[in-house]
Amino acid sequence: LGKYQSGMLRSIAATEPLENLCTLLRRAICDEPPFSVREGGILRSGYSEEVDRLRNIRDNGTQMVTELEQRERQRTGIKKLKVGYNKVFGYYIDVPKSAGLENVPADYIRKQTLVSNERYFTQELKELENTLLTAKDRINDLEYRYFCEIRDMVAANVDRVKEAADRVARLDALCSLAEVAVRNNYTMPEVDTSKELHIIEGRHPVVEQTLKDVLFVPNDTFLNDSDDRCAIVTGPNMAGKSTYMRQTALIVLMAQMGSFVPAKSATIGVVDRVFTRIGASDDLASGQSTFMVEMNEMAGILKHATASSLLILDEIGRGTSTFDGMAIARAVLEYCADKRRLGAKTMFATHYHELSALEGELGGVRNYNITAKKQGGTLVFLRKIVRGAADDSYGIEVAKLAGLPDSVISKAKGYLKELESSGIGPAVTPKAADDQISMADVGADEVRDILLRTDVNTLTPLEAMNLLFELQKKARA
Ligand code: ADP
Repeated sequence: LGKYQSGMLRSIAATEPLENLCTLLRRAICDEPPFSVREGGILRSGYSEEVDRLRNIRDNGTQMVTELEQRERQRTGIKKLKVGYNKVFGYYIDVPKSAGLENVPADYIRKQTLVSNERYFTQELKELENTLLTAKDRINDLEYRYFCEIRDMVAANVDRVKEAADRVARLDALCSLAEVAVRNNYTMPEVDTSKELHIIEGRHPVVEQTLKDVLFVPNDTFLNDSDDRCAIVTGPNMAGKSTYMRQTALIVLMAQMGSFVPAKSATIGVVDRVFTRIGASDDLASGQSTFMVEMNEMAGILKHATASSLLILDEIGRGTSTFDGMAIARAVLEYCADKRRLGAKTMFATHYHELSALEGELGGVRNYNITAKKQGGTLVFLRKIVRGAADDSYGIEVAKLAGLPDSVISKAKGYLKELESSGIGPAVTPKAADDQISMADVGADEVRDILLRTDVNTLTPLEAMNLLFELQKKARA
C-alpha cells in the first residue's frame, strides 16, 4: 500500500506488524487451541519442557509400565512377574506363588494376597503411578499458567494491537467498497459544497442485487436549495417510491463517506445530516402506537434538521385517519419547504394525491410520480420517475395483484365509484378514458381475463364444465 498517494492508504501501510507478539503467539499457541482455557491442549510442543515431559508421560504411560515390568523381571529372575492395574488397588506387581516367593526382593511391599498370587508395590511403582494419574491435571494447570502469562504479555501491548486492528479494519472496509464499486459498476461522485444534489441514473445498491428476473430501473434525482427543494413523490403502492427515496439517501451517504456510488453520475453537495422517516415500525412493547412512533420521529426530525439536511419522509400521516393524516402531511411538507422555517432538501412520498396541488402554491415544491399503467386488466409498474403528479393510486389493482379474492375486489371497485361520485372521496384528476372501469365492466373484465388465459385444447371435459360454471358465477356476481 505504501506506493499509493492516498494518505489513508499510506497510514494503513505504516501499520506496525507487531512482530514480537506474532512470534510469541506462533511459538506458544498451537494451531487449533480449544475453546476452554482450563483443559489444556493450548500450547505448541517445544514451548515448555515440563509440559512436553508430562504429555509424554500421559501419552506413553503403558510403555513406561512395560519397561518397569521388564526391569523387575530381570532383577528378580521371576519370568511370570507382571505389572497390573485395577481401580481399587491401582498399580501392583503380581507374582504367582508357584514362581517362588523367596525370590521376591526385600523392597517389595505387600499389597494384596490372593489364592495363588501375591501382589506388591515398590517405591518406584508408587511414584510412576502418581505421575501417571496426576499428569493430566498437572498439564492442565501448567498450560493455564502459561496461557495467563502469555495473555498478560499481549494485554501489555493492547494499545498497539488495537491500533493495528483499527487500520486493518479500515483496509477491510475500503477493499469492500472498492470491490462492490467494480463489481456493480459504481461511479465516482463529485462531492462539493454546492447546495445541489444531482444524480443521473441512480440505483438502489441493495434492491438491484436482490432482483432476479427483472432489471433495476435507474432514476434521476435533482434537488437544490432554490426551486427544487422539495420533491413530492406519488405513485401506486409497490411502484417503487420507497426504493427511489432510499436510494437517494444511500447515494448521498455513500458519497459522503468516500465511496463510489450506484449511478451513472452524481454531484453531491455535502449535506449536514440525512433524516429519514420510513415504514411503520411499531413499538407496541413500550406502549406506543404506530402513529405515535411516527409523530415522535417526525418531531425529532423537525427539531434537529437544518436547511442543509436531506429529509426522506415516507407516507407521513398514514397512521391516522385520512383527513387528519392529510392535514398533518401538508403542514409538515409546508414546514420543510418553507425557507423561513426549514427549507431543507426534502423527498416526500405520499399517497395523498391532493398534496400535489402544492406545486405552484409553495415555492420550491415539485411533483414527481412513479409510473405504472393498466394493461389488459392488470397493472404494470414501469418504475420510472417522471415530473408531474400521479393520476390514480391504483390501490385496487395492487390489491388484486396481491391476490385479494375477486369478490372483494369487485366490491371495492363499486364502493370507490360511489365515493368518487358522492364527492366525499379524494378529488382525483380525471383519468384517461381507457382507464375507466364501470361497474358493468368489472365482471366482464374478469370473465374475459379467464377466457383469454384458458388453453381450450388442453381442457378435459370435466375441467371445461367447471370453468363454465365458474364463469357463469362471475358473470352473475
Ligand atoms: P412503494 O414504496 O411505492 O410501495 P417500494 O419502493 O417498496 O414501493 O418497491 C416495491 C418493489 O418494487 C421493491 O421491493 C422492488 O422489488 C421493486 N422496485 C422498486 N423500485 C424498482 C426499480 N427502480 N427497478 C426495479 N424494481 C424496483
